[in-house]
Amino acid sequence: MRAMVLERPGTPLVLRERAVPDPKPGEVLLSVSACGVCRTDLHVVDGELTRPTLPVVPGHEIVGRVLAVGAGVEGFHLGQRIGVPWLGATCGTCPYCRDGRENLCDAPQFTGYTRDGGYATHTVADSRFCVPLPDGMDDAAIAPLLCAGLIGWRSYRMAGEGRVLGLYGFGAAAHILAQIAVQQGRRVYAFTRRGDVASQDFARQLGAAWAGAAEERPPEPLDAAIVFAPVGALVPAALAAVRKGGRVVCAGIHMSDIPSFPYALLWEERQIRSVANLTREDARAFFAAVPGLTLWTEVTRYRLEDANRALDDLRAGRLQGAAVLGCG
Ligand SMILES: [Zn+2]
Ligand SMILES: [Zn+2]
Repeated sequence: MRAMVLERPGTPLVLRERAVPDPKPGEVLLSVSACGVCRTDLHVVDGELTRPTLPVVPGHEIVGRVLAVGAGVEGFHLGQRIGVPWLGATCGTCPYCRDGRENLCDAPQFTGYTRDGGYATHTVADSRFCVPLPDGMDDAAIAPLLCAGLIGWRSYRMAGEGRVLGLYGFGAAAHILAQIAVQQGRRVYAFTRRGDVASQDFARQLGAAWAGAAEERPPEPLDAAIVFAPVGALVPAALAAVRKGGRVVCAGIHMSDIPSFPYALLWEERQIRSVANLTREDARAFFAAVPGLTLWTEVTRYRLEDANRALDDLRAGRLQGAAVLGCG
């Protein structure tokens, strides 16, 4: 098998030949057909997430087919198309796991961070955390749903039932979530870097009622805002745009420092919260909802060997939607 491996943060991934692993008890071996490139991968490669298990194969938006199953695996059959998300395993015994909040597990494993991920031709995964994928979207198109889609979905649920939703940063997650929110009858306002006309046009094409710069005020107060861009200054900007009692949800795993801001921005029961990881229930509920939605993903495809170029393009904001590896 071939894999793009991070050996040291801050250095490019290197192509390595490895033996195909045998699945251990509870694991599945997959041939990887597509793996999305998530912003979190950038944070891993660039060393902003400081506890990788090195060397590590990044990638946690894995679409693959089951080649072999380890002892005790239930519910998956050979050849089945399944997905592997960011939450790779949990301890099952800590207070968070026992309380149904396994996304906050005290001893979790994360795909492509503390265990090998999908920037490879093959990978093994803990079958309990894999998710069967619905038909109707090809491998590359469905890959971004495994993190951008899922984290967007969890953030969306945390944003509450308000009808007016702001999305700060219009990348892979927002371009999926905008479609869901519009189809569920919400008005979506998209905020991008000032002057990023291409992203603003892209947002309007996907149903946003308005798109503008992050510093601008939307045409009406927001019921909730979700901050996808890893820019702390967007938190007070979003607070200033939400109505009384409104929420600001921070969806990213890493963000630059949030600047201090006047208490008046938080006053009147506005809330700030973060969203961390996902649960298996999130994945189940999201992929159960997907067939009832009309979702389209804008995907830029890269060969596995071009993973560094895909990361560079994402870092530089040179692509709309999502980058996906391994699809020719
Ligand atoms: Zn736990
Ligand atoms: Zn991700």
